[in-house]
Amino acid sequence: MSLLSEKIIQWYHINKRNLPWRNTTDPYKIWLSEIILQQTRVEQGMDYYLAFIEHYPTVDDLANASEQEVLRLWQGLGYYSRARNLHFSARYIVSHLGGRFPQRYEDLLKLKGVGSYTASAIASFAYGEGVPAIDGNVYRVLARLFGVYDPLHTSQATKIFWQLGKKLISKENPADFNQAMMELGALVCKPQNPSCEECPIVAFCYAFEHKKWQDLPVKKSANRVRKRYFNYFVIESTNKILLRKREGKDVWKHLYELPLLEGENATLEDFTLFLEENLALKNPIFQQLNQKPVLHKLSHQHLNIMFWRVVGEPNTLGSYFFVGKERLSDYPMPIVLVDFLCKSF
Ligand code: SF4
Repeated sequence: MSLLSEKIIQWYHINKRNLPWRNTTDPYKIWLSEIILQQTRVEQGMDYYLAFIEHYPTVDDLANASEQEVLRLWQGLGYYSRARNLHFSARYIVSHLGGRFPQRYEDLLKLKGVGSYTASAIASFAYGEGVPAIDGNVYRVLARLFGVYDPLHTSQATKIFWQLGKKLISKENPADFNQAMMELGALVCKPQNPSCEECPIVAFCYAFEHKKWQDLPVKKSANRVRKRYFNYFVIESTNKILLRKREGKDVWKHLYELPLLEGENATLEDFTLFLEENLALKNPIFQQLNQKPVLHKLSHQHLNIMFWRVVGEPNTLGSYFFVGKERLSDYPMPIVLVDFLCKSF
Protein backbone atom coordinates (compact mmCIF):
# COMPACT_ATOMS: atom_id res chain seq x y z
CA MET A 1 0.00 0.00 0.00
CA SER A 2 1.35 3.47 -0.82
CA LEU A 3 2.14 5.88 2.00
CA LEU A 4 -0.64 8.14 0.78
CA SER A 5 -3.27 5.38 0.92
CA GLU A 6 -2.00 4.30 4.31
CA LYS A 7 -2.37 7.83 5.71
CA ILE A 8 -5.91 8.17 4.38
CA ILE A 9 -6.99 4.82 5.86
CA GLN A 10 -5.35 5.57 9.23
CA TRP A 11 -7.14 8.91 9.35
CA TYR A 12 -10.43 7.17 8.50
CA HIS A 13 -10.10 4.62 11.30
CA ILE A 14 -9.82 7.45 13.83
CA ASN A 15 -12.32 9.91 12.35
CA LYS A 16 -15.07 7.94 10.62
CA ARG A 17 -18.70 8.56 11.43
CA ASN A 18 -20.64 5.59 12.67
CA LEU A 19 -23.21 5.13 9.89
CA PRO A 20 -25.47 2.06 9.87
CA TRP A 21 -24.61 0.99 6.30
CA ARG A 22 -20.93 0.89 7.24
CA ASN A 23 -21.46 -1.96 9.69
CA THR A 24 -22.56 -4.48 7.10
CA THR A 25 -21.24 -6.43 4.16
CA ASP A 26 -24.76 -7.27 2.98
CA PRO A 27 -24.82 -6.14 -0.68
CA TYR A 28 -28.55 -5.43 -0.51
CA LYS A 29 -28.17 -2.96 2.36
CA ILE A 30 -25.12 -1.35 0.77
CA TRP A 31 -26.97 -0.98 -2.53
CA LEU A 32 -29.99 0.53 -0.79
CA SER A 33 -27.85 3.05 1.11
CA GLU A 34 -25.89 4.04 -1.98
CA ILE A 35 -28.99 4.64 -4.10
CA ILE A 36 -30.67 6.61 -1.31
CA LEU A 37 -27.57 8.73 -0.70
CA GLN A 38 -27.12 9.80 -4.32
CA GLN A 39 -27.78 13.55 -4.38
CA THR A 40 -28.96 13.37 -0.76
CA ARG A 41 -27.31 14.49 2.47
CA VAL A 42 -26.46 11.75 4.98
CA GLU A 43 -28.72 13.30 7.65
CA GLN A 44 -31.70 13.27 5.30
CA GLY A 45 -30.91 9.86 3.81
CA MET A 46 -30.56 8.15 7.19
CA ASP A 47 -34.31 8.13 8.01
CA TYR A 48 -35.15 6.83 4.55
CA TYR A 49 -32.52 4.11 4.79
CA LEU A 50 -33.84 2.95 8.18
CA ALA A 51 -37.44 3.04 6.91
CA PHE A 52 -36.57 0.97 3.84
CA ILE A 53 -34.65 -1.60 5.90
CA GLU A 54 -37.57 -1.83 8.31
CA HIS A 55 -40.20 -2.24 5.57
CA TYR A 56 -38.07 -4.36 3.24
CA PRO A 57 -35.35 -6.19 5.20
CA THR A 58 -34.35 -8.29 2.18
CA VAL A 59 -34.26 -7.94 -1.57
CA ASP A 60 -37.20 -10.40 -1.74
CA ASP A 61 -39.29 -8.10 0.43
CA LEU A 62 -38.52 -5.14 -1.82
CA ALA A 63 -39.28 -7.18 -4.95
CA ASN A 64 -42.62 -8.28 -3.51
CA ALA A 65 -43.73 -4.71 -2.73
CA SER A 66 -45.83 -2.75 -5.22
CA GLU A 67 -44.23 0.18 -7.02
CA GLN A 68 -46.81 2.45 -5.41
CA GLU A 69 -45.69 1.40 -1.91
CA VAL A 70 -42.04 1.90 -2.80
CA LEU A 71 -42.66 5.35 -4.26
CA ARG A 72 -44.74 6.27 -1.22
CA LEU A 73 -41.85 5.37 1.11
CA TRP A 74 -39.48 7.31 -1.14
CA GLN A 75 -41.74 10.38 -1.16
CA GLY A 76 -39.78 13.57 -0.41
CA LEU A 77 -36.38 12.27 -1.54
CA GLY A 78 -36.82 13.45 -5.14
CA TYR A 79 -35.21 11.89 -8.22
CA TYR A 80 -37.98 9.30 -8.27
CA SER A 81 -36.40 7.31 -11.10
CA ARG A 82 -33.94 6.06 -8.47
CA ALA A 83 -36.82 4.43 -6.58
CA ARG A 84 -38.36 2.96 -9.74
CA ASN A 85 -34.98 1.53 -10.80
CA LEU A 86 -34.34 0.15 -7.30
CA HIS A 87 -37.64 -1.66 -7.38
CA PHE A 88 -37.13 -2.88 -10.94
CA SER A 89 -33.66 -4.24 -10.11
CA ALA A 90 -34.89 -5.94 -6.92
CA ARG A 91 -37.48 -7.78 -9.03
CA TYR A 92 -34.82 -8.65 -11.60
CA ILE A 93 -32.46 -10.05 -8.95
CA VAL A 94 -35.23 -12.20 -7.51
CA SER A 95 -36.75 -13.36 -10.80
CA HIS A 96 -33.58 -13.78 -12.91
CA LEU A 97 -30.72 -14.28 -10.45
CA GLY A 98 -32.42 -16.48 -7.86
CA GLY A 99 -32.30 -13.65 -5.30
CA ARG A 100 -28.50 -13.56 -5.32
CA PHE A 101 -26.72 -10.28 -5.86
CA PRO A 102 -24.13 -10.12 -8.64
CA GLN A 103 -20.70 -10.23 -6.99
CA ARG A 104 -18.43 -8.56 -9.53
CA TYR A 105 -18.16 -4.91 -10.56
CA GLU A 106 -18.84 -5.76 -14.22
CA ASP A 107 -21.99 -7.73 -13.36
CA LEU A 108 -23.28 -5.16 -10.90
CA LEU A 109 -23.10 -2.54 -13.66
CA LYS A 110 -25.78 -4.49 -15.55
CA LEU A 111 -28.40 -3.69 -12.91
CA LYS A 112 -30.74 -0.86 -13.86
CA GLY A 113 -29.86 2.33 -11.98
CA VAL A 114 -26.38 1.09 -11.00
CA GLY A 115 -23.56 3.17 -12.46
CA SER A 116 -19.83 2.95 -12.03
CA TYR A 117 -19.75 4.55 -8.58
CA THR A 118 -22.49 2.36 -7.09
CA ALA A 119 -21.09 -0.83 -8.66
CA SER A 120 -17.66 -0.05 -7.18
CA ALA A 121 -19.13 0.72 -3.78
CA ILE A 122 -21.03 -2.60 -3.64
CA ALA A 123 -18.16 -4.62 -5.13
CA SER A 124 -15.58 -3.21 -2.71
CA PHE A 125 -17.68 -2.96 0.48
CA ALA A 126 -19.44 -6.30 0.13
CA TYR A 127 -16.89 -8.41 -1.75
CA GLY A 128 -13.52 -6.65 -1.31
CA GLU A 129 -12.97 -6.08 -5.04
CA GLY A 130 -10.25 -3.49 -5.75
CA VAL A 131 -12.29 -0.98 -7.74
CA PRO A 132 -12.32 2.72 -6.86
CA ALA A 133 -15.68 4.24 -5.85
CA ILE A 134 -15.54 7.78 -7.16
CA ASP A 135 -18.41 9.96 -6.04
CA GLY A 136 -18.55 13.78 -5.92
CA ASN A 137 -16.50 13.89 -2.73
CA VAL A 138 -13.79 11.70 -4.20
CA TYR A 139 -13.66 13.71 -7.44
CA ARG A 140 -12.97 16.78 -5.35
CA VAL A 141 -10.20 15.15 -3.29
CA LEU A 142 -8.49 13.68 -6.36
CA ALA A 143 -8.76 16.88 -8.41
CA ARG A 144 -7.16 18.91 -5.62
CA LEU A 145 -4.62 16.32 -4.62
CA PHE A 146 -3.27 15.81 -8.13
CA GLY A 147 -4.18 19.15 -9.74
CA VAL A 148 -6.58 17.71 -12.34
CA TYR A 149 -8.10 20.59 -14.34
CA ASP A 150 -10.18 18.52 -16.79
CA PRO A 151 -13.86 19.45 -16.28
CA LEU A 152 -15.80 16.84 -14.29
CA HIS A 153 -17.99 14.34 -16.10
CA THR A 154 -16.20 14.69 -19.42
CA SER A 155 -15.00 11.35 -20.77
CA GLN A 156 -11.39 12.47 -20.50
CA ALA A 157 -11.76 13.41 -16.82
CA THR A 158 -13.68 10.24 -15.99
CA LYS A 159 -10.80 8.21 -17.44
CA ILE A 160 -8.16 10.18 -15.54
CA PHE A 161 -9.96 9.94 -12.19
CA TRP A 162 -10.57 6.23 -12.64
CA GLN A 163 -6.89 5.63 -13.36
CA LEU A 164 -5.83 7.69 -10.35
CA GLY A 165 -8.28 5.80 -8.16
CA LYS A 166 -7.04 2.44 -9.49
CA LYS A 167 -3.45 3.44 -8.78
CA LEU A 168 -4.13 4.65 -5.26
CA ILE A 169 -6.57 2.03 -4.00
CA SER A 170 -5.27 -0.28 -1.30
CA LYS A 171 -5.06 -3.87 -2.57
CA GLU A 172 -5.25 -5.13 1.01
CA ASN A 173 -8.26 -3.09 2.05
CA PRO A 174 -10.16 -1.55 -0.87
CA ALA A 175 -13.36 -1.15 1.17
CA ASP A 176 -11.77 1.05 3.83
CA PHE A 177 -9.82 2.96 1.20
CA ASN A 178 -13.01 3.84 -0.68
CA GLN A 179 -14.87 4.74 2.50
CA ALA A 180 -11.89 6.81 3.64
CA MET A 181 -11.71 8.85 0.44
CA MET A 182 -15.42 9.65 0.60
CA GLU A 183 -15.22 10.54 4.28
CA LEU A 184 -12.21 12.76 3.69
CA GLY A 185 -14.12 14.65 1.00
CA ALA A 186 -17.22 14.94 3.20
CA LEU A 187 -15.51 16.04 6.42
CA VAL A 188 -12.18 17.66 5.51
CA CYS A 189 -11.79 18.44 1.81
CA LYS A 190 -15.14 20.23 1.73
CA PRO A 191 -16.29 22.23 -1.30
CA GLN A 192 -15.79 25.53 0.55
CA ASN A 193 -13.03 26.17 3.07
CA PRO A 194 -11.40 22.74 3.21
CA SER A 195 -9.70 22.02 6.55
CA CYS A 196 -6.25 21.53 5.06
CA GLU A 197 -4.56 21.87 8.44
CA GLU A 198 -6.39 18.68 9.57
CA CYS A 199 -5.84 16.81 6.32
CA PRO A 200 -3.75 13.62 6.53
CA ILE A 201 -2.45 14.08 2.98
CA VAL A 202 -1.65 17.78 3.02
CA ALA A 203 2.03 17.04 2.38
CA PHE A 204 1.11 15.46 -0.98
CA CYS A 205 -1.50 18.00 -2.09
CA TYR A 206 -1.15 20.08 -5.25
CA ALA A 207 -4.02 22.46 -4.36
CA PHE A 208 -2.59 23.19 -0.92
CA GLU A 209 0.90 23.83 -2.24
CA HIS A 210 -0.34 26.09 -5.05
CA LYS A 211 -3.26 27.64 -3.14
CA LYS A 212 -5.68 26.40 -5.79
CA TRP A 213 -8.44 24.66 -3.85
CA GLN A 214 -10.97 27.29 -4.96
CA ASP A 215 -10.29 26.46 -8.63
CA LEU A 216 -10.67 22.70 -8.26
CA PRO A 217 -12.45 20.60 -9.29
CA VAL A 218 -13.40 22.29 -12.58
CA LYS A 219 -17.10 21.93 -13.31
CA LYS A 220 -18.66 21.63 -16.73
CA SER A 221 -20.71 24.71 -17.55
CA ALA A 222 -24.11 24.25 -15.99
CA ASN A 223 -27.03 23.08 -18.10
CA ARG A 224 -29.69 25.69 -18.67
CA VAL A 225 -32.54 25.53 -16.25
CA ARG A 226 -35.93 25.07 -17.87
CA LYS A 227 -38.77 27.14 -16.42
CA ARG A 228 -42.18 25.52 -16.38
CA TYR A 229 -45.59 26.81 -15.31
CA PHE A 230 -48.09 24.42 -13.74
CA ASN A 231 -51.73 25.07 -12.92
CA TYR A 232 -53.16 22.45 -10.59
CA PHE A 233 -56.90 22.12 -10.11
CA VAL A 234 -58.48 21.03 -6.85
CA ILE A 235 -61.72 19.29 -7.75
CA GLU A 236 -63.66 17.82 -4.84
CA SER A 237 -66.74 15.71 -4.42
CA THR A 238 -68.13 14.70 -1.02
CA ASN A 239 -64.84 14.60 0.85
CA LYS A 240 -62.99 13.14 -2.10
CA ILE A 241 -60.45 14.75 -4.37
CA LEU A 242 -59.62 14.12 -8.02
CA LEU A 243 -56.21 12.62 -8.86
CA ARG A 244 -54.43 10.90 -11.69
CA LYS A 245 -51.21 8.95 -12.11
CA ARG A 246 -48.42 10.65 -14.07
CA GLU A 247 -47.22 8.70 -17.08
CA GLY A 248 -44.85 9.36 -19.96
CA LYS A 249 -41.29 10.60 -20.04
CA ASP A 250 -41.32 13.50 -17.65
CA VAL A 251 -40.58 14.37 -14.06
CA TRP A 252 -42.46 12.52 -11.30
CA LYS A 253 -43.32 9.50 -13.48
CA HIS A 254 -45.78 7.15 -11.71
CA LEU A 255 -46.47 9.62 -8.92
CA TYR A 256 -50.00 10.94 -8.40
CA GLU A 257 -51.17 14.51 -8.91
CA LEU A 258 -54.18 16.80 -9.28
CA PRO A 259 -55.49 17.62 -12.76
CA LEU A 260 -52.80 19.75 -14.36
CA LEU A 261 -52.66 22.28 -17.16
CA GLU A 262 -49.18 23.43 -18.07
CA GLY A 263 -48.53 26.77 -19.75
CA GLU A 264 -46.90 30.08 -18.91
CA ASN A 265 -49.71 32.36 -19.89
CA ALA A 266 -52.71 30.06 -19.56
CA THR A 267 -55.93 32.04 -19.03
CA LEU A 268 -59.23 31.19 -17.35
CA GLU A 269 -60.59 30.41 -20.84
CA ASP A 270 -57.77 27.87 -21.29
CA PHE A 271 -58.62 26.34 -17.91
CA THR A 272 -62.28 26.07 -18.86
CA LEU A 273 -61.46 24.42 -22.17
CA PHE A 274 -59.06 21.98 -20.51
CA LEU A 275 -61.65 20.89 -17.93
CA GLU A 276 -64.35 20.57 -20.55
CA GLU A 277 -62.16 18.48 -22.86
CA ASN A 278 -60.77 16.19 -20.17
CA LEU A 279 -63.59 15.92 -17.66
CA ALA A 280 -66.65 17.24 -19.49
CA LEU A 281 -66.89 19.75 -16.65
CA LYS A 282 -69.19 22.61 -17.63
CA ASN A 283 -69.16 26.25 -16.48
CA PRO A 284 -66.50 25.95 -13.78
CA ILE A 285 -65.84 28.68 -11.25
CA PHE A 286 -62.19 29.14 -10.26
CA GLN A 287 -60.86 30.26 -6.93
CA GLN A 288 -57.15 31.11 -6.83
CA LEU A 289 -55.57 29.42 -3.81
CA ASN A 290 -52.09 30.97 -3.73
CA GLN A 291 -51.25 34.63 -4.25
CA LYS A 292 -48.05 33.99 -6.15
CA PRO A 293 -46.67 30.83 -7.75
CA VAL A 294 -45.00 28.26 -5.51
CA LEU A 295 -41.46 27.85 -6.84
CA HIS A 296 -40.31 24.23 -6.78
CA LYS A 297 -36.76 23.62 -7.94
CA LEU A 298 -35.68 20.36 -9.52
CA SER A 299 -32.15 19.74 -10.77
CA HIS A 300 -32.74 21.16 -14.26
CA GLN A 301 -36.20 22.61 -14.01
CA HIS A 302 -37.86 25.32 -11.99
CA LEU A 303 -41.57 24.76 -11.62
CA ASN A 304 -43.86 27.70 -10.93
CA ILE A 305 -47.05 26.30 -9.51
CA MET A 306 -50.49 27.84 -9.05
CA PHE A 307 -53.35 26.03 -7.33
CA TRP A 308 -56.98 26.65 -8.23
CA ARG A 309 -60.09 25.36 -6.54
CA VAL A 310 -62.74 24.45 -9.10
CA VAL A 311 -66.44 24.59 -8.37
CA GLY A 312 -68.13 22.23 -10.82
CA GLU A 313 -68.90 18.57 -11.44
CA PRO A 314 -66.93 16.36 -13.83
CA ASN A 315 -69.16 14.26 -16.09
CA THR A 316 -66.49 11.88 -17.23
CA LEU A 317 -63.28 10.81 -15.49
CA GLY A 318 -61.05 9.13 -18.09
CA SER A 319 -57.71 8.51 -16.40
CA TYR A 320 -58.71 10.54 -13.33
CA PHE A 321 -60.27 9.09 -10.19
CA PHE A 322 -61.60 10.33 -6.86
CA VAL A 323 -59.78 9.42 -3.66
CA GLY A 324 -61.17 9.86 -0.14
CA LYS A 325 -59.15 12.48 1.72
CA GLU A 326 -58.36 10.03 4.51
CA ARG A 327 -56.70 7.75 1.91
CA LEU A 328 -54.58 10.41 0.22
CA SER A 329 -51.49 9.29 2.12
CA ASP A 330 -51.60 5.91 0.30
CA TYR A 331 -50.68 7.68 -2.93
CA PRO A 332 -47.08 8.75 -3.59
CA MET A 333 -47.03 12.38 -4.67
CA PRO A 334 -44.46 15.07 -5.38
CA ILE A 335 -43.58 16.69 -2.07
CA VAL A 336 -44.79 20.09 -3.26
CA LEU A 337 -48.30 18.61 -3.66
CA VAL A 338 -48.12 16.82 -0.32
CA ASP A 339 -47.25 20.12 1.36
CA PHE A 340 -50.08 21.91 -0.38
CA LEU A 341 -52.67 19.23 0.40
CA CYS A 342 -51.55 18.97 4.05
CA LYS A 343 -51.95 22.71 4.48
CA SER A 344 -55.26 22.84 2.65
CA PHE A 345 -57.11 19.80 4.04
FE1 SF4 B 1 -8.23 18.92 0.23
FE2 SF4 B 1 -6.69 20.60 1.61
FE3 SF4 B 1 -6.43 17.96 1.92
FE4 SF4 B 1 -5.65 19.13 -0.31
S1 SF4 B 1 -4.82 19.46 1.72
S2 SF4 B 1 -6.82 17.25 -0.16
S3 SF4 B 1 -7.21 20.73 -0.56
S4 SF4 B 1 -8.20 19.22 2.45
